[in-house]
Amino acid sequence: MSSGKSIQTDVLVVGSGAVGVAASIEAKEAGAQVIVLEKEDHLGGAAAISGGGCCIVDTPLQREKGIQDSPNLAFDDWISWGQGSADEEWVRFYVEQSCQGLYEWAKERGVDWVGVNPNEGNSVPRWHRPEGGGGGLWHALYATALSRGIDSWIPSTAVRELIVENGRAIGVRVENLETGESQEYFAKAIVMGTGGFASNLDMVMEHRPDLRDHRILEGSHVGARGDGHHIVQEAGGILTHMGDMWFYSFAIPDHRDPNQRRGLVIRGMADAVWVNMQGHRFHNEELTGGWSGTRAIMAQEPAQCWAIIDGAMREHVVVSDPYYYQEGISVRDYEKVAELLEVSPYIKRGSTLEALALDMDVTVETLKGTIDRYNTHIDSGLEKDPDFGRPMAGRQKIEQPPFYALNYGPLARKNFGGVKTDLRCQVVDKNYRVIEGLFAAGELAGMAGGHINGKAGLEGTMLGPALFSGRVAGAWAAREAGFGGGFGG
Ligand SMILES: Cc1cc2nc3c(=O)[nH]c(=O)nc-3n(C[C@H](O)[C@H](O)[C@H](O)COP(=O)(O)OP(=O)(O)OC[C@H]3O[C@@H](n4cnc5c(N)ncnc54)[C@H](O)[C@@H]3O)c2cc1C
Repeated sequence: MSSGKSIQTDVLVVGSGAVGVAASIEAKEAGAQVIVLEKEDHLGGAAAISGGGCCIVDTPLQREKGIQDSPNLAFDDWISWGQGSADEEWVRFYVEQSCQGLYEWAKERGVDWVGVNPNEGNSVPRWHRPEGGGGGLWHALYATALSRGIDSWIPSTAVRELIVENGRAIGVRVENLETGESQEYFAKAIVMGTGGFASNLDMVMEHRPDLRDHRILEGSHVGARGDGHHIVQEAGGILTHMGDMWFYSFAIPDHRDPNQRRGLVIRGMADAVWVNMQGHRFHNEELTGGWSGTRAIMAQEPAQCWAIIDGAMREHVVVSDPYYYQEGISVRDYEKVAELLEVSPYIKRGSTLEALALDMDVTVETLKGTIDRYNTHIDSGLEKDPDFGRPMAGRQKIEQPPFYALNYGPLARKNFGGVKTDLRCQVVDKNYRVIEGLFAAGELAGMAGGHINGKAGLEGTMLGPALFSGRVAGAWAAREAGFGGGFGG
């Protein structure tokens, strides 16, 4: 069904997440007319539900805290952490520009940077925390976009294909998901910012057949299903490093999902003890991140573990899913969290460790032995546990009933590969020739350029580059449409 009526604009932005806000602001500030199309019935994508942390280099906030950083130091950390797979040109571009081009730019547009956290692989703390997390950051930029006069944010409108004429992208065909009608939008330049594919398990497995025997959970925003990858590829664009993905391991299957594919990310379990499915500790639980935590779990047979907490720790559990928050505000709905602990088939429970072991299907002697030994390390006042090197200062023992064991396993969160672009975010074809009129940024482009992270991310290296490449794409798209001088121009 077609409505027949087509719409024309200067710059069309597809996706309303990080790229959506950054590209639209940039293009509008250059003087272009902008329309943003969004598939879901809500705006914001992964950006608006993200932690909001951005890896930024040598900022006033770092200096205020006495942290000495530099683009050279960050470049070296980034390249070695990416294990030879990061795109050096894009990394250099980003680390040189991130202070001025992201930190200051966002600050001038309403984002308040309030903290800097350390993360694995970084020589110094770089993970810059905005006020209000990802929601706070996205809403501040969205408010700026509205104040600049970008009022065409069109939800429930899925782009299905690009319209290409004589090798140039001139528009898109969309489906209105409420009415089923199709429609065409024409533009002088198009920025694709449709995000990743970590919420499409079939696509994850297509690019990571080695994981087919494991229980892998879907874990990004609901819209992250890889639409843009197929659409750009059909228009001649190329995909690169598609097997490089970032998995987290502190997640259990969502028992409310009829397909049992989605995962729930669990936080607030700082004192949990991880044991494998046989009941043995195997890792320093301090290192829960996408690199060491996930690798440690992937090395177990099966690639899952139990995160054990006691009755005192239960109070701090946070479930990173909108259902477990009170509507409209970011306040934890503790009743729902408590209910999850009691009803999820992926959480085992017991009023004693013996009862917990039975529920976990682990021998009582093994589990009791593991937990008793761990508690003894705390009692003996050791600085680090002698088995796996976990820092022991201030640790809570597992001692107060009831006891819980959460069945953790890998959850696909972020895509480090995607559409290949040049440094202007112009999509290139298999001959590395630019497809005129077509730009790609953010997670669709492996966060920027195709593979800015490589095989591992320093954290904050997803949202940061997505916003930054969104800006770059927006500026060059505006210039293509006849406005402004391009990024930095
Ligand atoms: C829970 C969570 C926490 C995170 N925390 C952090 C963090 O702290 N730091 C960090 O660096 N990264 C983090 N990330 C990753 C980061 O949020 C993303 O990489 C980033 O938002 C990507 O920006 P984007 O604009 O490319 O995609 P998104 O922000 O996901 O936006 C893409 C939008 O495009 C829409 N779309 C998809 N297909 C179509 C279509 N066919 N037509 C129209 N619209 C379409 C989607 O619905 C979505 O709204 C987190 C991710 C998640 C899921």
